Formats: sequence, C-alpha cells, structure tokens
Amino acid sequence: MFSLPGEPSLVTEARQHILESFSDLEFYPDGHRYVLNGQELPSVSNVVHRFIRTPFDDQRQAIRYAERHGQTPEYWIQQWRQNAFRAQTLGTKTHAYGESLGYLRAGMPERICPSILPQYMPEYRFLAPIHPKEEAVLQERRDACAAKIDARTMSAYERIRKSVHNHLAVVSVYNGNACGGCFNTITPQRLVEVASNRKLIICEHCGRIIINPDFE
Ligand SMILES: [Zn+2]
Repeated sequence: MFSLPGEPSLVTEARQHILESFSDLEFYPDGHRYVLNGQELPSVSNVVHRFIRTPFDDQRQAIRYAERHGQTPEYWIQQWRQNAFRAQTLGTKTHAYGESLGYLRAGMPERICPSILPQYMPEYRFLAPIHPKEEAVLQERRDACAAKIDARTMSAYERIRKSVHNHLAVVSVYNGNACGGCFNTITPQRLVEVASNRKLIICEHCGRIIINPDFE
C-alpha cells in the first residue's frame, strides 16, 4: 500500500480507498475530460459553467479590448486562447510532476509518469523541476522535510551543500561500494554503518552525507 513516511494511517487508508474507487479513471488533457468505466464524468469547470448566466463573449470583449489597448480583436482572441491552452498544459504537467515526486519519495520510481521521465536522474533519484510551478512543488516538499529535522543537522546539511561543487549534500552509495558524490571507495566498516541507517555517515573524501540507496 502506498504511504508516505510518518503520515497517519487514516490518510493512507483514505488514499487507498480513493485509488481503488478511481483506478479505472482516465484523463484526457484535450478538453480536460475524465472517463470512468467508459462513462464520461463532468469536469468541475463544466459544472461551474452551467451556473454562469452570461457566457464569456470573447468576440465582443475582444473588440472592446482592442479599442482600448490597440491591436486587432483577432490578435487578442489568439492571445487569450494561447494563454488558456498554456495554463491547461502547465496544470496537467505540474499535476504529473507532483504525483511522480510522491512515487519517487515512496520508493516507487517505476511509477513516475512517462511525461516526466525525461526529467528523472536515476543515479541521484532526482526529479528536475523545469518550470516555476514544479519548482514550487519541490520547495514545498523540501520545507516539509526540513521541518522534521533538528537545527544542528539542518545547518550541517546547508554547510555541505554550499561547500560541494554540484550542491548535492546527500548522495547514495554508488555501484555497491563507492561514494555517489566523489566516487571514491567507501571502507567496508562505513558501508555497514550506512546500511544500518542509524547515524549520519560523512564521506571522508568529499564530506557529503552518504545514504543507503534503499533508504527513503
Ligand atoms: Zn565522497
């Protein structure tokens, strides 16, 4: 069962229930359509539209807008439609990014959305944000993690981050016995300590924190 470290069991069970109930739900970004068991579900925006008495008349608005701001009405209609399209595709991507990050953190990188896969760096278990909204998703998760870590560990982490050239303070064991940051060999004694997940192990060559690749 999918669960995030430290979450209440009620949340895990509720998520599982939702996932099972909607396991056959398909989403089509074109037109923002949802289909469950062959039946199309109304999207929230479509339901909202039903209660709006005067639909947005873009032709009329574009004429007024062009009078005030210059350009032709056609120009503004094109701008608005492109903006709406951009917001929709970005929304879909941000959603996929957040979901993929959740799977990655829960140790299921194989469930990363295909559209996000080009942003995934398996050797560092890193999902690169490529637009500001994805960055915000990452920042939010980072802040949530940082809140659970004591101040001394956090300041050590920040210090290492600043001192290493690629700003990766935490690396996993590479190829069974090497540091994932500087690729120098880790002594067998240290490997055992890393595997135990009990204390912070620092690479004696580069100063990075080394973690067990299976540890989340
Ligand atoms: Zn190292």
